[in-house]
Amino acid sequence: MIERHVFDVVIVGGGPAGLCAAMYAGRGMLRTVLLERGVPGGELLNTEWIEDYPGFKKVKGWELAELMAEHARQFGAELRQENVETIARRDDGIFEVTTSRGIVFEAPAVILTAGGTPSKLGVPGELEYAGRGVSYCAVCDGAFFKGETIAVVGGGDAAVEEADYLTRYADKVYVIHRRDEFRASKLLQERLLANPKIEVIWNRRVLELVGGPVGLTTIELEDTVTGARSSLAATGCFVFIGFKPNSWLVKEHMRHDEGGYVITDDRMMTSIPGLFAAGDLRVQLTRQVTTAVGDATTAAIAVEKFLTERKARAERKTEVGV
Ligand code: NAP
Repeated sequence: MIERHVFDVVIVGGGPAGLCAAMYAGRGMLRTVLLERGVPGGELLNTEWIEDYPGFKKVKGWELAELMAEHARQFGAELRQENVETIARRDDGIFEVTTSRGIVFEAPAVILTAGGTPSKLGVPGELEYAGRGVSYCAVCDGAFFKGETIAVVGGGDAAVEEADYLTRYADKVYVIHRRDEFRASKLLQERLLANPKIEVIWNRRVLELVGGPVGLTTIELEDTVTGARSSLAATGCFVFIGFKPNSWLVKEHMRHDEGGYVITDDRMMTSIPGLFAAGDLRVQLTRQVTTAVGDATTAAIAVEKFLTERKARAERKTEVGV
């Protein structure tokens, strides 16, 4: 027998967007479940300090995550550790959210807040040295590189911020960027450029990651302007080149852009009625904790309205005997 649970709304993903949506949906008296495969917090758990969340001048990522989870629970939302495998919509408009344990969560509305997965460089050696020099999370792995020489790849907020963070462990951090200017915010750039342990290598792309039995030793590079090749000795390579949205969980076709980011209307509803999206997997200018919770607020309130209208429609049908 398949284990089934019925809710008003199922929230898929437990980052800031999911936790905020759960808080609002719970507060709106909706029977709410949030499904998250790990510990709630999402990208907050990959960030040591958050210093751009209003009201908190500086707060640890994990601490803000715990506060958000507690807040959602306080309003009655149920937070469950489940790995969602598929989201499908039945003909009667009810969604079935199926987890890897075969449990089905049913609801007339789903809020997808599943974020994304770090993009890979796609070069030889990347998979081979993953966990043995190659990493996608500075907070998780930085401490393994005490006193070593390492590199960070990328030029966005994540690369620039994490390179700075990694200098507390590594003696030297090279930042390898494929262009001659960063796309990261000016404040983060200034901090990075003022850090004496950091050296930026402009206009280079990674060709190959090379190592031996102990792990990564060398990064092979190519100059994106001249085509010249060079080798950089490094025992760590932290890759921060963006991420791929986890929109593939939805089986039906859903409107998205060329990068797979989900397109929504101003109520955060996707092209599938009853399926809402919030946070990093949505098409938008920037992806901050504040934008994630903003999306989630709109989505949760829109779900309340959607469910009220759905109920009214069903009652009208019953009255006229359709
Ligand atoms: P991002 O802003 O998309 O930047 C990705 C960087 O990686 C870009 O510099 C890009 O180069 C480079 N890149 C992409 N593909 C590459 C490849 N195959 N090889 C080499 N380099 C490649 O991604 P992100 O830094 O992960 O940030 C994602 C979102 O989260 C952004 O909206 C960001 O603002 C937000 N975020 C904010 C904070 C903060 O405010 N503290 C911290 C982390 C993330 P090009 O510039 O040449 O395209």
